[in-house]
Amino acid sequence: YGALVRTDPQIAGVLLDELERQRGTLQLVASENPTSPAVLAALGSVLSNKYAEGYPGRRYYGGCAQVDEAERLAIERARALFGAEHANVQPHTGAAANLAVYAALLTPGDRVLAMALQHGGHLTHGAQGNFSGTWFDTVGYPVGEQTELIDYDKVREAARTHRPKLIICGATSYSRLIDYAAFRSIADEVGAYLLVDAAHFAGLVAGRAIPSPVPYADVVTFTTHKTLRGPRGGAILCRAELASAIDRAVFPFAQGGPLMHAVAAKAVAFAEAAQPEFRAYAAQIVANARALAAALAREGMRPVSGGTDTHLAVLDLRGAAGGGVRTAAGAKVTGREAELRCERAGIMINRSCVPYDSAKPMVTSGLRVGTATVTTQGMREPEMQRIAALIGRAVRDADGAGAPAVQKDVAELVREFPLYG
Ligand code: PLP
Repeated sequence: YGALVRTDPQIAGVLLDELERQRGTLQLVASENPTSPAVLAALGSVLSNKYAEGYPGRRYYGGCAQVDEAERLAIERARALFGAEHANVQPHTGAAANLAVYAALLTPGDRVLAMALQHGGHLTHGAQGNFSGTWFDTVGYPVGEQTELIDYDKVREAARTHRPKLIICGATSYSRLIDYAAFRSIADEVGAYLLVDAAHFAGLVAGRAIPSPVPYADVVTFTTHKTLRGPRGGAILCRAELASAIDRAVFPFAQGGPLMHAVAAKAVAFAEAAQPEFRAYAAQIVANARALAAALAREGMRPVSGGTDTHLAVLDLRGAAGGGVRTAAGAKVTGREAELRCERAGIMINRSCVPYDSAKPMVTSGLRVGTATVTTQGMREPEMQRIAALIGRAVRDADGAGAPAVQKDVAELVREFPLYG
């Protein structure tokens, strides 16, 4: 850090400011998590200097013995952690991992069945403007209007009608467990591949807090930076017979040289996730999310589907019962307003569509909260009650008059659970 201060004080300042922001405010963005100093050390290392196109033992450059060792360790640890036959640890991001899977299994124009975006699906599951919606014929399956859960009969019906070549489950804003056996049987019935996008919940699978998709899926993609708590990046698990197709789709099809510092950092994160403490952390994430969703319900925010089994909850601010969250003046609050009001009060959160949302995607009627970061900080159920009360105060505060008081209480809470203490 001293070298950075001397060479580039402006960027050094940004780094310090960001550290202060992360330490001094509440982080409830469901896709974020502060990674360990060991992972950060690997990320900020000389491994960043090395070109290593190819795979361990089969590189297009000399001098790869050391990075080969790092990648072999990452692959072996990923396979052991998830019980997978094959792992590719090179995708730069979760989106890059998904791109490689499409490239390995499909040709442009093929049909894909995935969760509808408004109901929790990801951009790479068929959004217009993304490669998936541009090059592939994607059909979205909704959640049930009453239950807000995946309706497996509807998915089967859609699969029979549309005959997709690939079915995707795993989402961005779905808080419940997924019935992988049901998806497997639907995929088998229509002869489709099954991709489980475990970007969000891979850490919960690694920590044995929720069931693993690996025995059911042809391919599992995930990000290493969400609940898994590693460096920003992606990875792919698959059965042995798909290994070479997946590897070729990552390199040379979708990517050039791998980010060897990130690959090494992924190896560190996989080792950390194999420790017994990680299981306790994963279980606590889910307990915290349940406690937070229940406490937010008491603040007038209705948990979509009634609650959560994972690290996140989606809250409907319209409130099916009780008229939703209203400010003192009686006005209803949109997702966008709620997000801004929380940020003003030092609570980082993001707006979210709710199923069958009548508001525009940039506005929305909901919020998404995640408990990975606060759990990493050591918070437990009693703190979730405090957080819900703070969110409630921030969201109801229409003119910002109450923000300084909420900020003060947020600062007090995070001081008790310091990040990078
Ligand atoms: N898949 C899902 C379900 C996600 O939620 C995300 C990111 O939020 C991704 C893929 C993409 O990950 P990345 O942002 O690393 O490209």
